Amino acid sequence: MTTIRLPTPRCPGSVLGAAPGVTESVEAYRATGGYADTPGPEALLRHLAASGLRGRGGAGFPAAVKLRAVRDRGGAPVVVANGEEGEPGSVKDRWLLRARPHLVLDGLAHAAAVTGAVRGYVYLSDPEAAARVRGALAEREPHLPVDVVETARTYVAGEESAVVRRIDGGPALPTAKPPRPFERGVGGAPTLVSNVETLARIALTAAHPDLRRTIARSTLVTLSGGNADPVLTEVPYGVPLRTLAAAHGTPEAAGALMGGLFGGLIDARALDLPLEPDALAAAGTALGCGAIRFLAADACPVGTAADAVGHLADESARQCGVCVSGTTAIRDTVHALAAGTAGPEAPDRLERWSQGLPGRGACGLLDAAAATAGSLLRTFPELVRSHLRGPCPDCAAGPPGDGRGRRLVVAVPEVADAPASLTRLPVLKGTP
Ligand code: SF4
Repeated sequence: MTTIRLPTPRCPGSVLGAAPGVTESVEAYRATGGYADTPGPEALLRHLAASGLRGRGGAGFPAAVKLRAVRDRGGAPVVVANGEEGEPGSVKDRWLLRARPHLVLDGLAHAAAVTGAVRGYVYLSDPEAAARVRGALAEREPHLPVDVVETARTYVAGEESAVVRRIDGGPALPTAKPPRPFERGVGGAPTLVSNVETLARIALTAAHPDLRRTIARSTLVTLSGGNADPVLTEVPYGVPLRTLAAAHGTPEAAGALMGGLFGGLIDARALDLPLEPDALAAAGTALGCGAIRFLAADACPVGTAADAVGHLADESARQCGVCVSGTTAIRDTVHALAAGTAGPEAPDRLERWSQGLPGRGACGLLDAAAATAGSLLRTFPELVRSHLRGPCPDCAAGPPGDGRGRRLVVAVPEVADAPASLTRLPVLKGTP
C-alpha cells in the first residue's frame, strides 16, 4: 500500500495540502488563499521567471518560457492540465487531481490569464480523479470554460502531442514534431500542455509570491522499491538521495532507477547526489517526474533493467518502425542477460543501441529504453559481465517475462499513515 507523508508544520507553499483520500472543498481551498485576485498576468510571469519554476511532467522545461511561447503566438490559445501519468512508478499527478483539484484548476485559470487562453481542458485517465475534478468544476465560479477529457492510461498518452491528438478526437499517440503544441495544438490553436503539478505550483506562486523560491525549489516524489511500501511525499531540492532512501526504508540501497524510466540506473555511490535537476543531469541521470525506485541490497540491477525495458517494449505505440525494432531488440537482449543466456556480443550491441537510437522515435519512449540499457552498461559493467556466465540468484528466482514488470507499478495513496522514518526528512521552509 502506498503511504503519504504530509508536511509538518504545514507550509502554505506546499502542494501536499489536504488529507489524502479526502478531496479539498472549494471553501477549504479559498481558506488557503486560493482563487484570490492575483498581481496580474505580467507580474505572475515575472514571479515565475524569477523563481526558476520548471515543469514537473518530466522534461523540466522552464514554466515561464513555456507560458510566454504560447502567449506570444497570439490568436485564441488553449490551456491543458495534463494529469495523464504514464510512468508506472509515479502517483503524484493522480493524487493531486483526487485530493486538490481546485489547486490544479486555479493554476489552469492563471495559465489562461497569462497566455490569453479562452478554453481549458483537464486531460487524464484516472476515473476517480475525473469524478473529483468534475465535482470541483461544479463548485467553482466558471470564469474559464473547462472540459474534462479522459483517455486510456498508457506510457505515451501524456506526451504533449498525444494529448493534443486525443483532445481533437484522435488516438492518444504522439505525432512528429514540428509543429509543437505551442505552435499548433488543439483545434490548430497555440496550446499550453502543462503537467498538473506545474499548474499547482503556478497557483501557489500566484497566491504566495513571497514564497516563490520555496514553491519552485520543492517537488513531489514517489519513492518505491526495496522492501518497503511506496511513499508519496514532498521535499525541498537538495535533499541527498541517500536521505530519501533511508526515509523510504531502504537505507542500504544498491542504487536506484531514476525519474520514472527516464533517468536510467544509478549505483550506491550516486545516492550522495542531491535531489536537484541540474546536479542529477550533470551526473548523467534525471529527476524526471520524481519517481525513484530504490534497489534493495540484494536486488539485481540487471533484473530491474529487464523489468523496465520489458515494460517499455510492451508500451511502444508501435507507430515508428525504429521504436518497434529498437525496444524489442533492447528488451530481448537485456532479458537474455538476466536469464544468463546472452551471447558475448550482447554488451556491444546494447552499447550501440544506447548511443544510436535516442531521438529517432516520435516520442521519448525509445530514448527511455536506450537510457536504461546504456546506464546498466556504464554503471554495473561487472554485473553485466557476470550475467554472461549465468544468472545471479535474484534473476534466477524471478526471471524477466514472468510478470516482474508489474513490480514497477505503484498504487495511488489513500491513507495518511506514514513510516516514522519519514519524519526525519527535511520539511519545506517558507522562504522567498
Ligand atoms: S517512439 Fe515508440 S512509443 Fe513513441 S510514438 Fe514512436 S512507436 Fe510510439
